[in-house]
Amino acid sequence: QRLVGSAERPEDGRFDRALRPTGLAEYIGQPEVSEQLDIFVSAARARSEALDHVLIFGPPGLGKTTLAHVIANEMGVGFRQTSGPVLERPGDLAALLTNLERNDVLFIDEIHRLSPVVEEVLYPALEDYQIDIVIGEGPAARSIKLDLPPFTLVGATTRAGALTSPLRDRFGIVQRLEFYSQADLSHIVTRSAGILEIAIEPAGAAEIARRSRGTPRVANRLLRRVRDYAEVRADGRIDGDTAARAMDMLRVDDNGFDVMDRKLLGALVEKFDGGPVGVESLAAAIGEARETIEDVIEPYLIQQGFMMRTPRGRLATAATYRHYGLPVPDTGRT
Ligand code: ADP
Repeated sequence: QRLVGSAERPEDGRFDRALRPTGLAEYIGQPEVSEQLDIFVSAARARSEALDHVLIFGPPGLGKTTLAHVIANEMGVGFRQTSGPVLERPGDLAALLTNLERNDVLFIDEIHRLSPVVEEVLYPALEDYQIDIVIGEGPAARSIKLDLPPFTLVGATTRAGALTSPLRDRFGIVQRLEFYSQADLSHIVTRSAGILEIAIEPAGAAEIARRSRGTPRVANRLLRRVRDYAEVRADGRIDGDTAARAMDMLRVDDNGFDVMDRKLLGALVEKFDGGPVGVESLAAAIGEARETIEDVIEPYLIQQGFMMRTPRGRLATAATYRHYGLPVPDTGRT
């Protein structure tokens, strides 16, 4: 079972919300993003204007939704949330837009999955705070223009490349979230443990941070699983050793790789001789959707230097072979 992905289980959704920072001061890490937003938000507030539209991209679980909430809180405005696939018809979007209040934040998750007809409605809304809606059908149909209050669209996407360029061009602020450092993740784990009243030692937090795939959502989930282990198998306190044993049991290895990561790397090395291999073939070999590989699994493996994306396909690196205890083939891999 994957530890990333969106909040699939209701219980996880509840914890995600409980642990979500509400202001920029609590938003740990991502220093450049925080600094810039702090300035843009302060300026917009001082002018009593809506913040410019914001596009946030990065792999799942890095804090895109959280940042959208933080922006609304810092602006002191209302927050509405939807997602690309949910907005099926132009009317769905029009209903949301016409209910916004002045300077509100509208958050659209997975914005790269908006249908083209819905996207068309969005353009004038973003540019001129106006929408055209069609009333009636056939020859009697007519189009009317509606004025909207100024608002801020915050769009989130796992892949900036999947956005059409007219949409991308309408965002004045574009922020890319990076994988978190271990120090930042330790900080997040310690903060979450405080909120959940879990006793944890610095070495325990560091061990969880080290195996969290650079991702706050994974860190928070591991923390809860490790707590279960500590309560049943130890005295409830999470020290470094208990954390390590718990995560070994969860099959999250020393690099923080989980079962799916190892399956992908294993297929790359063993079935495809280290590549290059197309992502479709890899997807078929491990029984995962291509999108899951591209959005969820491989970004971290690539960032960690265990895989390369080349024009000819995915390629194993020397680190991959060493990870499997295999000799590094003499083909100029680094
Ligand atoms: P995304 O929308 O990118 O998939 P979320 O915003 O839902 O990710 O973040 C997942 C969880 O990780 C949140 O519930 C929050 O508890 C935690 N989190 C994310 N970013 C941060 C951060 N910068 N500081 C502290 N916790 C964070």
